[in-house]
Amino acid sequence: MIVMKFGGTSVESAAAIERVAGIVRARLARRPVVVVSAMGKTTNKLLAIANTAIEGKREEYICQIHELRDFHSREARQVVPLAERAELDRLLDEHFQELTELVKGLAVLGELTPRSIDAISSYGERLSSAIVAMAFRHFGMPAAHLDARQVIVTDQRHTQAAPLYPETYARLADVVPPLAETQVVVMGGFIGSTREGVTTTLGRGGSDFTASIAGAGIGAAEIQIWTDVDGMLTADPTILPGGHRVKTISFAEAAELAYFGAKVLHPATVLPAVEKNIPVLILNSRRPEAGGTRIVKEAVPCGNVVKSIACKRKIVLVNVHSTRMLMAHGFLHRIFEVFDRYETPVDMVSTSEVSVSLTIDNPRHLPEICEELRQFSEVDVETDQAIVCLVGDNIRYTPGVAGRVFGAVEGINIRMISQGASLLNLSFVVAEPDLFRAVEALHGRFFGELDPEVFDRNGAVHG
Ligand code: ADP
Ligand code: ASP
Ligand code: MG
Repeated sequence: MIVMKFGGTSVESAAAIERVAGIVRARLARRPVVVVSAMGKTTNKLLAIANTAIEGKREEYICQIHELRDFHSREARQVVPLAERAELDRLLDEHFQELTELVKGLAVLGELTPRSIDAISSYGERLSSAIVAMAFRHFGMPAAHLDARQVIVTDQRHTQAAPLYPETYARLADVVPPLAETQVVVMGGFIGSTREGVTTTLGRGGSDFTASIAGAGIGAAEIQIWTDVDGMLTADPTILPGGHRVKTISFAEAAELAYFGAKVLHPATVLPAVEKNIPVLILNSRRPEAGGTRIVKEAVPCGNVVKSIACKRKIVLVNVHSTRMLMAHGFLHRIFEVFDRYETPVDMVSTSEVSVSLTIDNPRHLPEICEELRQFSEVDVETDQAIVCLVGDNIRYTPGVAGRVFGAVEGINIRMISQGASLLNLSFVVAEPDLFRAVEALHGRFFGELDPEVFDRNGAVHG
């Protein structure tokens, strides 16, 4: 068995779903289990509907729901067999009626809770998975739809739920292999449910994570992440187009890149795969022949120091300063305890004798956090910052990397630096307006020459 996950753009239209069917058909012998994201930008649209509802704009949300239904209906009709048209209409009626009721309820309450956000955003994957299963039958493949909420069991941390592995693996192992004997199993990514059956989600971009959980649960031979780029590239194409394809990379390197902003892979994806040592491939659904990126246990020997440059934008830098810190202990603990209490993860930290700088990417509770910190220190906050993160297994073995990095970005104000925590990354913070210049300079410096075993020059076609 293999797991094949198709992201939002890969199932955004009838034509895209037809392409997916072709890709899956060519791999039928490997008994594919297919995980799909919501079609196109559906998750964003569902969240927009929820927000319109709590603002009390009734006409607007009704109109948004109609548009979303029309979109699904229009695309799905083209890929669903005539014999299943009635079933498609029933599916759409049922789901959109339910959604409308839910949204009306929100409008009355005027409040959006994490639990209701999950209930609403789950409709994207619930619809796309049912539609793709019908489409596969239309294109002549036996296909079975599986509601992911029956097999992905999670904790109750709505919008960021974590899988309860033993139960999830047991259910997957029970349900999926018998179905996959004779049919292509199609399930939605991103969604799960608590033991009590309440719908949860694994966090934005979480369908990659579902694919890897499913792969680990059924002991898949491979986990394929099909997306809209040729694979992991040497730079984030939304910041610096024209990067090169990385043909192979280690789990540890890929995880680090994902954590520091490479959206092509959800940061939690590699965990289940590493545990079961299942290779993960990133592939382009518009160019299946492109080769992709293979993520494996050990990095292959590479002539380049850096594999890729990731960036995390919209970062907030918090500087905490206190003379009371001098010679005192327990100060860092006090600071982190505040961030912890507001469930705000800290990405980078740097300390000096009387000050600590840290970065966060979720400023939701920043005002409360600052207020508490100000009770025992001076605090200043800088928004519009970005983390630039160079990743490569060789960084740990190569002397002088920092010199080369900071030589390349000479003239750009570096706000904070971190190296050593994971040995395979070197990160620093710049103001957002300097981000492009920094990445461009670094890319030129580290990828002028490429080890052909690891990189494919000009193999990077976006879209
Ligand atoms: P999907 O909907 O298939 O999950 P995503 O939009 O989540 O796709 O992820 C793919 C996108 O990730 C690419 O279109 C690209 O803009 C972005 N990306 C960021 N960093 C990288 C990188 N280093 N290599 C490739 N893609 C990257
Ligand atoms: N549909 C979800 C999102 O947009 C999950 C995913 O696409 O991976 O975040
Ligand atoms: Mg994604």
